[in-house]
Amino acid sequence: MPRHAPVPGKFTPACRRPVLAMAAALAAGLVAVATPAAPAAATSGDGHCEAGYVGLTYDDGPTPEYTLRLLSALRENGVRATLFNIGEKAEKNEDLVVAEKEAGMWIANHSWSHPQLTKLPEDEIESELQRTQDLLETFTGTAPVLFRPPYGNTNATVKEIAEGLGMAEILWDVDTRDWSGKSAEEIVEEAVTVQSGEIVLMHDGYAATIEAIPAIMENLRSRELCPGMISPTTGKAVEPADEAAPVSP
Ligand code: ZN
Repeated sequence: MPRHAPVPGKFTPACRRPVLAMAAALAAGLVAVATPAAPAAATSGDGHCEAGYVGLTYDDGPTPEYTLRLLSALRENGVRATLFNIGEKAEKNEDLVVAEKEAGMWIANHSWSHPQLTKLPEDEIESELQRTQDLLETFTGTAPVLFRPPYGNTNATVKEIAEGLGMAEILWDVDTRDWSGKSAEEIVEEAVTVQSGEIVLMHDGYAATIEAIPAIMENLRSRELCPGMISPTTGKAVEPADEAAPVSP
């Protein structure tokens, strides 16, 4: 998918102002003064999101080799990401899907067996998406609202079936090509070309992708961009509408 030029006025992110919210809550007597502040890296919105939000996405998990390491790195760096899970991998790794959810990630549908969906008959496309949808709902209590076709390979039929199952089809703006043996530095170099509202494609399955997270975040912070959720309505990265669970001690 080609990069697109920003559309003026199309996306104006709201910025969270937790400090002001806290001050207001204190003034209203709602919060005890002794209440400790939330850990600095606990959430993606840390009050410095003036330039907006970007969507960091990781496809093809969960993987016994990498998912827990990926989640640790994301949490340590204050990132909430969208994870496009493969159904047949999720089926074998319920604990990892639950860990993704508990780490505050948004869990999305990436088909059951990662086929070229456009080459399948409609009933098989439907089955690929529905099985994954049902499994992820069983494991997490919530049916995904986002779907990404494997290889970005889609057509009107695939899109329509996804929408019929309650999911928006989400592709990407920036492809890091982290699956092709790239170094962490090369992944960072690609990822940081992302602009407000846009989505970065990465994968759950490579050590270099995990190693790239601190430098990606350093760059985003320097540009006052925050990792956000992907809106199923607009397909753009926006301010998270829910709160992440607190970081475990
Ligand atoms: Zn994939």
